[in-house]
Amino acid sequence: MGDSSQQPADTLQRRGLMFILSSPSGAGKTTLSRMLLARDSEIRLSVSCTTRPPRPGEVDGVHYHFVSDAEFDRMVEEDDFYEWAHVFGHRYGTPKGKIRAALKEGQDFLFDIDWQGTQQLYQKDQQDVVRVFILPPSIDELHRRLQGRATDSAEVIAARMERAQAEISHWDGYDYVIINDDVDVCFEKVRAILEAERMKRARQTGLIPFVRGLMG
Ligand code: ADP
Ligand code: 5GP
Repeated sequence: MGDSSQQPADTLQRRGLMFILSSPSGAGKTTLSRMLLARDSEIRLSVSCTTRPPRPGEVDGVHYHFVSDAEFDRMVEEDDFYEWAHVFGHRYGTPKGKIRAALKEGQDFLFDIDWQGTQQLYQKDQQDVVRVFILPPSIDELHRRLQGRATDSAEVIAARMERAQAEISHWDGYDYVIINDDVDVCFEKVRAILEAERMKRARQTGLIPFVRGLMG
């Protein structure tokens, strides 16, 4: 019988992680992110700031913080970002917020950021970062998905397709690479990675006292 003042032995205290999902635009990381956030109550989205205008259905403060160029400049000057990058002619950045303190408390964060942001976060905090890269099943399918999403003009889609090759070339800067053919199969793989990473010994801060207890 355990002491009721302690946590159950199968949910030991642990440190949170920074779960990064990247992909060429249109491969499905937003879809997968939304599925994860809807089904996993332990992970929270790190809401980025961007200078790009909202797409239909995007909500300020939920999907992004939509900011002006001047506001973004001010945040850069005040060192408010963990990382930031130019993507498709706009700027995107991860606000520092209270991420470090929350990680210590066991909160996980999901990052939908590109390879530049991934490199910067990894350099700053290797132990907490888990990097997952999503690939489309083919270039034709990537094009179909961008067109099917119907949120971007033909020019924007052409620019995203042109950039896709360059983005794909960063696949080897990630810990895991998954092909998003069937979205449900892909999602289960994302979830399996997250579950396994949560159980890593180094993240289970509650293990030392637990094992000490076992050993008397
Ligand atoms: P990203 O965030 O990587 O730019 P999205 O998640 O917005 O990509 O996906 C682009 C489009 O492709 C969306 O219309 C989405 O519904 C669709 N999509 C995502 N995953 C799949 C999949 N496995 N099969 C078919 N369509 C998909
Ligand atoms: P979109 O305009 O399709 O929402 O995003 C365009 C690209 O910007 C995607 O590759 C997305 O992952 C990336 N992105 C979004 N937020 C950030 C961020 O805060 N930092 C970085 N480096 N990239 C971001």
